[in-house]
Amino acid sequence: MPHDAHAHAHVAAPEAARAGRVHSWDVSTGVDGPGTRLVVFLAGCPLRCLYCQNPDTWHMRDGRHRTVADIERRMRRYARFVTTAGGGVTVSGGEPLLQPAFTRDVFEAARRLGLHTALDTSGFLGARADDRLLAATDLALLDIKAGSEDTCLRLTGGALAPALAFADRLAQQRTPVWVRYVLVPGWTDAPDEVEAVADRCAALANVERVDVLPFHQLGRSKYERLGLPFALADTPAPTRDQVAAARAVFAARGLVVS
Ligand code: SF4
Repeated sequence: MPHDAHAHAHVAAPEAARAGRVHSWDVSTGVDGPGTRLVVFLAGCPLRCLYCQNPDTWHMRDGRHRTVADIERRMRRYARFVTTAGGGVTVSGGEPLLQPAFTRDVFEAARRLGLHTALDTSGFLGARADDRLLAATDLALLDIKAGSEDTCLRLTGGALAPALAFADRLAQQRTPVWVRYVLVPGWTDAPDEVEAVADRCAALANVERVDVLPFHQLGRSKYERLGLPFALADTPAPTRDQVAAARAVFAARGLVVS
């Protein structure tokens, strides 16, 4: 394929010197940004969300060493397909902002190929995203994990404030944001938790949509395979009514919810 020739042309570029730890790839439609997307999952995450579906991405050592040129080759191969499908490239994880320079260089490479870029992040390390990375980001998929610091800390092992600060910064930069809120019965479904997040979202002019994602047990087998305890083993998925009630809290503030 001609992409090999193009890849060589980029070896001399400074960005091509950068490399990162990549866990895996996927092509997906629906949840990782608009259209059909090439999703690059980076390895490593500082959080330990009790419901995490990808505990196999937690450690950077579990990823494979990849250069920006490697990623660019792959993006070039998919460019026409994802563009025709109204999509682009999403960098996810793990936590992409654990490798901010690599993420930035991947996005800048994507931009050179004319691809839409989406950053899938918990925002916990938002302070590590420099302005150049934000300038290369067309859309942020931002998790807001809870409405209170206490719940966030117990649920994820990390503070909520950094994600909220990052949300404010994205608003200042007018970067479009899709907020994700995982609805976990007994954890994040209390009205004051949901209302606090909805109030935050409503105060930000750049939030284009909110996805309320029902907790489920599908990630459980991965924990078993990895020999890790799954703390939410006895937590049920929310009922349809519980999900509808949470979505209504966001919708009542004029937010687009799905
Ligand atoms: S931030 Fe994402 S990858 Fe990290 S532990 Fe939470 S759910 Fe898993």
